[in-house]
Amino acid sequence: MQMNTHYQDLKESYLFTDIAKRIRAFQEKHPDRDIIRMGIGDVTLPLPASCVSAMQEAAAEQGTQTGFHGYGPEQGYAFLREALAERYAKKGVTLQPNEIFISDGAKSDLGNLLDLFGKENTVVVPDPVYPVYVDTNIMAGRKIVYCNATKENGFLPLPDESCRGDLYYLCSPNNPTGAVYTKEGLKAWVDFALENDGVILFDAAYGSFITDSDLPASIYEIEGAEKCAIEVCSFSKMAGFTGTRCGWTVVPEALCRQGMSLNRMWLRRQTTKFNGVSYVVQKGAAAAFTPEGEKEMQANLAYYRENAVLLAELLKKKNIFFTGGAHSPYLWFKAPAGLSGWELFDRLLEEAGVVGTPGEGFGENGSGFFRLTAFSTHEKTAEAVKRLDALTWFHG
Ligand code: PLP
Repeated sequence: MQMNTHYQDLKESYLFTDIAKRIRAFQEKHPDRDIIRMGIGDVTLPLPASCVSAMQEAAAEQGTQTGFHGYGPEQGYAFLREALAERYAKKGVTLQPNEIFISDGAKSDLGNLLDLFGKENTVVVPDPVYPVYVDTNIMAGRKIVYCNATKENGFLPLPDESCRGDLYYLCSPNNPTGAVYTKEGLKAWVDFALENDGVILFDAAYGSFITDSDLPASIYEIEGAEKCAIEVCSFSKMAGFTGTRCGWTVVPEALCRQGMSLNRMWLRRQTTKFNGVSYVVQKGAAAAFTPEGEKEMQANLAYYRENAVLLAELLKKKNIFFTGGAHSPYLWFKAPAGLSGWELFDRLLEEAGVVGTPGEGFGENGSGFFRLTAFSTHEKTAEAVKRLDALTWFHG
């Protein structure tokens, strides 16, 4: 018996267990103190009403002889792929529905896509990073090269000789930093990947938070990206589907390596290992693009954006360096007074009852930084801002 011993190379992630432990200890010591949780990366508003009715109708259809749907197409129903292609077209991006694959969310595809690539490839990930990119590659034993995201480059690293590889992960708007690449920034990566025969895995899970049409919400807004990039996206943060599960991945027809079409390979992979997302859920997801659904979805996004603005205003007022807060639900800031992220975590909990996420949880360059999220209520966000504002040492 040969086990995949690369699993032994994975570092245990204690981040959220550690956070929960510290909160529990605090609550035991101070049962009357009210805690405001600004650490979660999960949405809190309910699903758009149009998505709910569409799923109710689809579930009822499944109970009728004429409306029943058994196995669906592994790649996803045409109604949803066509709706997505239309949505891209509005941004000037032309995609054929057969270049779009419906998934049960971005996380699964980020891991599954690695089936297409040899184990000898070198993977380039930014530091700090969404840990899934790192762990999925450690599991396969791939070499990982880190590309430094720092205060100096605004947490938006550009390619250079130190970060040459085969597979490049980019996430914009970024988790955890909230930083968003401009078209010029993304173009530098696309050109670099094309010159080096590399492939970019572009995570656009937060693209719907972008409000400035000059900022790219899809990598295919960059010329040449269809020859070097796969885009992974999700209804999770866009339409509140974190618990309902639906996403999509774009693998362009033009993307070929070693004479192999990655679109054909992905289709083959999906038809072999995946049986599609449920009809009910795909109907719910498609309803987010109806005029009513779009209005409801945009209202939810606007609600979170307003929270982000409140937090950004506080950090500006306190003269604290930060990224994100605009075009993103995340705010990533330098811990005041030379504190580490964990020290800041303890002080904010103790003195303000506010919980965030220490930057150390996302990589070495996260050290001394802290992440707050806008996925809370207006009331709780305003209260957190008030409490942080009152801390005399909380400034840049
Ligand atoms: N990509 C990033 C950058 C994320 O932050 C998350 C979730 O937090 C995901 C992907 C996973 O999204 P999904 O819910 O679609 O699996």
